[in-house]
Amino acid sequence: MRKNIVAGNWKMNNDLSETEELLAQLKQHLEQEPQAEVIVAPSFTNLYHVFQSLAGTPVKVAAQNMHESENGAFTGEVSAKMLTSVGVKYVILGHSERRAIFKETDELLAKKVTSALKNDLQVIFCVGEELDQRKSDNHFNVVEEQLSKGLFNISKEDWKNVVIAYEPVWAIGTGETASPEQAQEMHAFIRKTVSEKFGSEIAEEVSILYGGSVKPANAKEIFAKEDVDGGLIGGASLKAEDFLAIVHSF
Ligand code: PEP
Repeated sequence: MRKNIVAGNWKMNNDLSETEELLAQLKQHLEQEPQAEVIVAPSFTNLYHVFQSLAGTPVKVAAQNMHESENGAFTGEVSAKMLTSVGVKYVILGHSERRAIFKETDELLAKKVTSALKNDLQVIFCVGEELDQRKSDNHFNVVEEQLSKGLFNISKEDWKNVVIAYEPVWAIGTGETASPEQAQEMHAFIRKTVSEKFGSEIAEEVSILYGGSVKPANAKEIFAKEDVDGGLIGGASLKAEDFLAIVHSF
């Protein structure tokens, strides 16, 4: 039985006092046992604080990025081992902003995935097409290539520590959401692609999240689709009320 997950990607938002405010609201309203694993991804500077503050709650902490090396002369970078040492359980890799703005390639992402898994981090691996790729009917090819180059050189045993997030780039931060049918179609395709390479047992167990303008108003309908196992939430994760409404949409 695969896990439902709702993960909030705070991106480069929330300084320490804003983080404290958001945490207080989240903790106040997260009393009932959620139907999904809840994850929040603050900035590097707030990871340890968030981890400590959430101790005793079911909420897990994710990092938004990491460097692929164990340590060394990489000024400004953070390694997987540093993340686990401050209580981080997940790392988001391959987010479209990292791919587009920071020019992260599939080859680099494959190295990051390897390092994360080796250091006992769970990976939330993001894939998704741009608008012109969908319009030219290339979206399945794009996603298949991102998966095969960035993720598929892991072992069968590693899959228990992998979550996939399908995030069509045209739906991120735009207010435009993929329809539940479009999300289901791509999620089913991703599961089939995993199955062809690693077998149906692994494909049935891997959680596939949808990301792209998920809000309280549309979460239920999207999460109801057979192959959608939750969401990766950007903008709406910055408001406790909205994020928790999404968490409670299962
Ligand atoms: C994201 O950045 O992962 C995301 C899904 O953002 P938003 O929910 O704001 O579209």
